[in-house]
Formats: sequence, structure tokens, C-alpha cells
Amino acid sequence: MTLKSTNPFNGKTIKTYKEHTSKEIEKKIAQTHQSWLVWKDSSFKERSSLMLKLAKVVKSKKEVLAKLMTQEMGKPYLEGIAEAEKCALVCEYYAKNAEDFLKDRVIKTDASKSFVAFEPIGVVLAIMPWNFPFWQVFRFLAPNLMAGNCGVLKHASNVSGCALSIEEMVLKAGFPKYVFQTLLVSGKKVNPIIENRFIKAVTLTGSTQAGKKVAEKAGSVLKKCVLELGGSDPYIILKDADLEKAAETCVTSRMINNGQSCIAAKRFIVVKPIEKEFIKLFKQKMADKLMGNPMDKKTDLGPQAREDLRNELHEQVKKSIAKGAKCILGGEIPKGKGAFYPVTILTNVKKGMPAYNEELFGPVAAIITVKDVNEAIKVANDSVFGLGSAVFTRDLKKGEKIAKEQLQAGSAFVNQFVKSDPRLPFGGINQSGFGRELSNFGIHEFVNIKTVYLK
Ligand code: NDP
Repeated sequence: MTLKSTNPFNGKTIKTYKEHTSKEIEKKIAQTHQSWLVWKDSSFKERSSLMLKLAKVVKSKKEVLAKLMTQEMGKPYLEGIAEAEKCALVCEYYAKNAEDFLKDRVIKTDASKSFVAFEPIGVVLAIMPWNFPFWQVFRFLAPNLMAGNCGVLKHASNVSGCALSIEEMVLKAGFPKYVFQTLLVSGKKVNPIIENRFIKAVTLTGSTQAGKKVAEKAGSVLKKCVLELGGSDPYIILKDADLEKAAETCVTSRMINNGQSCIAAKRFIVVKPIEKEFIKLFKQKMADKLMGNPMDKKTDLGPQAREDLRNELHEQVKKSIAKGAKCILGGEIPKGKGAFYPVTILTNVKKGMPAYNEELFGPVAAIITVKDVNEAIKVANDSVFGLGSAVFTRDLKKGEKIAKEQLQAGSAFVNQFVKSDPRLPFGGINQSGFGRELSNFGIHEFVNIKTVYLK
């Protein structure tokens, strides 16, 4: 069986990769486990120095990595450069902070000494998606290697080139052999890997559907999992918002990565009094986005990562229109080669339409008009997801109250689009998953929080 990388810009096959057999996979996991037996006792100084070297390797290869992303999944080249730089940043962040995050915490009790120690747990399986083919992996890899764990990566089947290049860079940085390995295998064959006795936990970023399957399997063998799944992030635009800035920020968020980001703004909830003005500004800015060859630095919108995903998106748009949504921009599959989908805006979006209920993973904005702030919050929370959310208002106190107390999501931003930052925890609630990545919180997901008690 093979895995195929196809360039979504022209439909050409870049390369096919032979899948690892189950025997090869078992061998690789056993090798990584053997490596872990040594790695778990390495010092923070050693881990940190290697992690900083990895950051350097990534930075030195950023052009190559960006090109690889562009070819395998259509990311605009400049966004690929930024993604590579962010990977280096997360390596540097954990190289600097992991020791502090994981140092023993003394807790006073009736013991002569009692404390909490954070111990590595072993080999963690990372199942990753194609949309940020480097970043999603690095935000797992950096904290886990720093915590003394080892990792095996099952990357999305369409980005095997990216997957292998990560393994190569880890080795180039000087990490011991096998602490991190790539398994070339399709999603259908993951269950025995989760069952493997050396795999201690699983992390998955991807669709809610894949998350449920993995959680079910991990649960059946009692292995912990962290799930970072889809989202339909609501962005509320209130009457007192700076509309020009709000429209700009909303468009930026919707268009990140050709619209294929779990934390992209997806539902724009606008209060009636500013509906017309906001839509005018938003439409102008969306229409300005240039669709084209993702290798071209001027391109804002490249092709969707795969043709099947583009077609699914179009179905969601068509169904929403059939149920009464109004398409005021885009909405047609362009003629010619490539998995392109144009910048699209749907207004009059209502409950029951895919654009309201589901995740639209592409450059399609759903505008929902409401009468006031209370209805806006109700609509924002009327979702099975709960990843990110945002509110736009000039009244920062009001914004903070809405963000903190009223928006039901893993993160809530005021006057800014939701973005991940190594220093802040990242993750969702409800069907957007559970557990956290990044920050002090993320590094504690896959450690044994051990109580030590001395009489
Ligand atoms: P998937 O969720 O299917 O893929 C993500 C990862 O999970 C891939 O590595 C995939 O492997 C793997 N996978 C899929 N099914 C299973 C399974 N049953 N057991 C174990 N691993 C599995 O996403 P798609 O690429 O199919 O995209 C579909 C939709 O998912 C998108 O349109 C979007 O809505 C959402 N999505 C969300 C992402 C996010 O960042 N939250 C990222 C990507 C997609 P393989 O590629 O071999 O199938």
C-alpha cells in the first residue's frame, strides 16, 4: 500500500511513499521505546541544548520547508515561512522553560516532606493533520522531548514529505537515534498502534470524527489522549466596534492557511445596527484577496489541500444556499486545474444550515445577523464546538466580561483574532476536544504527576 502526495495546485503526483508494514511499525515503536529508556534520564541541560539546535536547523531550512508545504498542501509560500519560524520559536520556548515547568513542587502536609514530581511516561503517538504540517507536530514534539518522553508521528497521508523531513531535522540536530520517528501509515491502520504496549498515550489534531474514533480506541485500552479537533469559531461584532479594524481582523482570521485552520473565524455574528456597514467593509477586504499559485509571494489564497475537501466545502455552501443563505461573493468552483475555491461570503445564515451548524474548512464566511448583544452571545454558544471565539467592541471592560464569562470556548479574544502562542494554553471544549497544548499546561498533559511522601 502507498501514500500519495499530490500537488493541489496542478493535481500532479509529487511522490508516492510505501506504507510501513505492521512488522516495521512494531519494530520502530520498540526502537523508540528502547531510546526512551535512556532519554528519560537525560538532563534538562542536554535536552535543552539539542532543542536549541533543532530550532537552528528549522530556521536554516525554512525556505525548503515552506516549499514542501506549498507543494504538498497548497499553503501560500510566505505563510509557510512564518510557520517554520514559529516551529523554531516553540523549540526555543520549551528549551528555556521546560525545566522550570517540571521542577518538583513541595506541598506542605503532615509528612516530613511531600512533593509532586513530573515524570516522563514513555512513547507518545501523535496523529497529525495536513493543515499546519510542521507547526502541529512541533507543538507536540518540543514539550514532549523536553519532558523526557519520546514520540512516534502518524502524519496525514498527503504530507509524508513533511513528516519525513521532521524526523530528518531531529536527527540533524543531534538527538539520539529513534527518540522521534515517523510511521508512514494511513489513518485506517492506527488501532493496533494505539494498542501497542509501548505506546503510553495519544494526541490527535484533526476532525471531530477522527477524534472520536481515536478516543474510543484509546479508551478501550485505557490510554490517555489529548484531542484538538474542529471548530466553528464565532466572532461577535458589536455596535461600538471599530468596524474598519474589526473587518480587517475578521478577514485575516478567515483567510489564514487558505481558510483551513481550526481556529479561523467561521461565523461572523453581527448586530443589526451595523450590519450593512460591516458587510460592506468585510466584502471589500475579502474581494481584495488574490487567488493563485501558492508559490507566488503575491498570492493570498492558494488551492485547498485536497480536491475531495474542496468538493465537500462546496456541498456545504450549496446546501446552505438551498436553505436560504444568500451568496454575496464567490460560491462557484473556478474552471481549470487545481483544488481552488474562491473567497466566498454567505449572509442570512440561520440555524439548520451547514454554514451555521458545521465547520466550514475553507475561505467561506458565514454572516449571521442578530438584534443585540444578548442574542449574539446566545448564537455564538449555539454550537457543538468550542475552540476559539472573539468579540469586537471599543469597551474593553465589556469585552473582557463577555470573553471571560459568556463565551463558551477554549479561548476568547477581544479585538483580535484567535491565534496560538507557545506561552498560552491552546485547546477546546465540547466537540472541539479536550486537553491542552502549549504553555506550562501543555507540557503537563503527558507526564506522571507523581506524589512523593516522606514520613
Ligand atoms: P482527518 O481528521 O481525517 O485527518 C487528521 C489526521 O487523523 C490524519 O493524520 C488522518 O490520517 C488521521 N485519521 C483519520 N481517521 C482516523 C482514524 N479513524 N484513526 C486514526 N487516525 C485517523 O481530517 P481530513 O484530512 O479528512 O479533513 C476532514 C475535515 O477535518 C476538514 O475538512 C476539517 O473540517 C477537519 N480538520 C480539522 C483540523 C484541525 O486543525 N482541527 C485539521 C484537519 C482537518 P489519514 O490522513 O491517513 O486519513
